[in-house]
Amino acid sequence: MIEYFERLLQNDAESKSKDDVSSICKSLDLQGSIECGATVLAGKDFGGIHSVKPFALIRPSSPDDVARVVKAVSRSSNLTVAARGNGHSINGQSMADRGLIVDMRSMGDDHFEVVGSHCVDVSGGALWEDVLKRCVLEYGLAPRSWTDYLGLTVGGTLSNAGVSGQAFRFGPQTSNVTELEVVTGKGDVLTCTESENSELFFGVLGGLGQFGIITRARVLLESAPDMVRWIRVVYTEFEEFSRDIELLVSREDDSFDYVEGFVFVNSDDQINGWPSVPMDPAQRFDQNRIPGTAGSVLYCLEVALHYKNGGDPSIVDTIVRKLLGGLGFVEELKFQVDVSYMGFLLRVKRAEEDAKANGMWEDCPHPWLNLFVSKRDIADFDHMVFKNILKRGVGGPMLVYPLLRNKWDNRTSVVIPEGELFYIVALLRFPPLGPKGPEVEKMIAQNHEIIKCCSKKGIDFKQYLPHYQSHEEWKRHFGNQWTRFVERKASFDPMAILAPGQKIFTRTPQP
Ligand SMILES: Cc1cc2nc3c(=O)[nH]c(=O)nc-3n(C[C@H](O)[C@H](O)[C@H](O)COP(=O)(O)OP(=O)(O)OC[C@H]3O[C@@H](n4cnc5c(N)ncnc54)[C@H](O)[C@@H]3O)c2cc1C
Repeated sequence: MIEYFERLLQNDAESKSKDDVSSICKSLDLQGSIECGATVLAGKDFGGIHSVKPFALIRPSSPDDVARVVKAVSRSSNLTVAARGNGHSINGQSMADRGLIVDMRSMGDDHFEVVGSHCVDVSGGALWEDVLKRCVLEYGLAPRSWTDYLGLTVGGTLSNAGVSGQAFRFGPQTSNVTELEVVTGKGDVLTCTESENSELFFGVLGGLGQFGIITRARVLLESAPDMVRWIRVVYTEFEEFSRDIELLVSREDDSFDYVEGFVFVNSDDQINGWPSVPMDPAQRFDQNRIPGTAGSVLYCLEVALHYKNGGDPSIVDTIVRKLLGGLGFVEELKFQVDVSYMGFLLRVKRAEEDAKANGMWEDCPHPWLNLFVSKRDIADFDHMVFKNILKRGVGGPMLVYPLLRNKWDNRTSVVIPEGELFYIVALLRFPPLGPKGPEVEKMIAQNHEIIKCCSKKGIDFKQYLPHYQSHEEWKRHFGNQWTRFVERKASFDPMAILAPGQKIFTRTPQP
């Protein structure tokens, strides 16, 4: 098998016959399958900016299959291998140019077992939306910490962090797993926890796929609510918005169950402006309520409260009134709906369906930028970025909400700014339909401008889902965690065969 791929490395135009494919399968002795050549899917990602040509797409059917592939690759002179979750990276992180792709979705249903009353074992390749459905419908339970969009894999988000409006209380998804099964870059299949193979456990969490492939995760659960009161209120001043949202997240247990925020343009623009706030077609944003002092952008606090069916609805009203009481939003600009818990968690799926229908999901590039910005600098960031560079919006949501450092375990590989409180900023760009090239280039240039301005101003920030071109930039990103990251790499993937699309390490050639 290895000779075959190495011949391809020398001449990848070589035609790949069915016989070749079956001989590879035989030599690897996989239970799963290998697809050579026709690997278009694996050569691109959601970002749609980069594309590469992998040699093969492997659909493993067990961790043992994954281990066989990794071992075979490590015996080659310079092949690499990337686990592909759902390919929702932006900058080619899930790709392997002239390497092998392991499609983790093929093992998505391998595990589903509720363990005790508080945990579920799921596959690394499972989609979070499937985990949600099975946990809620079969057990009345649910994971505690989510991402906004659930068409992502368990292994993919755990390799980054996994953040949404529950993270202020429970931390990111990386703080909500107690055990992992991992295939390391040496091809060893290991179980790891906080106390067993702990360096691997913490390394893999937020490890950008660098130390191993997650084949199973044990995820913490809570009792699932039935319903959610979902509320949006509007602010004109960033100072008031940030004061209130920080107050809500610092109250932790005595707060809403979900707290997020976003910035929108003070205009009637359908996508970037006032119409992006109401949650129901029957609701209308009355712009006459916006004080004349408001600037180019406005802020929306988005919160949600869980409740059970059969409870007294007036209790929900009372709690909401108490939690919102004293906050400084514009009184008349308040929107709310009551939805099922699953409907709430699957809210972005509806946006996905609309975007798919409009050709804005798979068919267009998404030059997204995600940052963590320290509380110390978020007001400067607002002034420089939201009020100026992005005052016309990004063609999609601009999320901004705070997270608490004490909910993030500093033994994981995730990198966050200094200080007890920092904000996630997510610029979820959708280029306008029409001629693509220049608009997308402009968006990418704007991302660079934002990063450049932040660096120049000395803003304490880190990229989330990071993407860098040079070794020096990666070193700077990890800062004082760089040595630990490099040591973990040397221990678990010494030849640097895993997740080459992150472009952190270069494959060590076989002597
Ligand atoms: C529409 C959309 C909404 C999003 N919303 C959120 C959000 O609310 N919160 C948030 O935190 N993030 C969000 N993300 C970002 C998301 O966390 C990343 O895209 C992440 O990469 C997960 O996607 P994936 O499962 O498709 O993994 P992929 O993109 O396929 O992989 C990402 C990286 O992880 C590695 N990897 C994948 N699977 C494994 C595995 N089993 N073991 C080890 N390494 C693996 C890959 O090699 C690659 O390096 C969103 C992305 C999109 C496109």
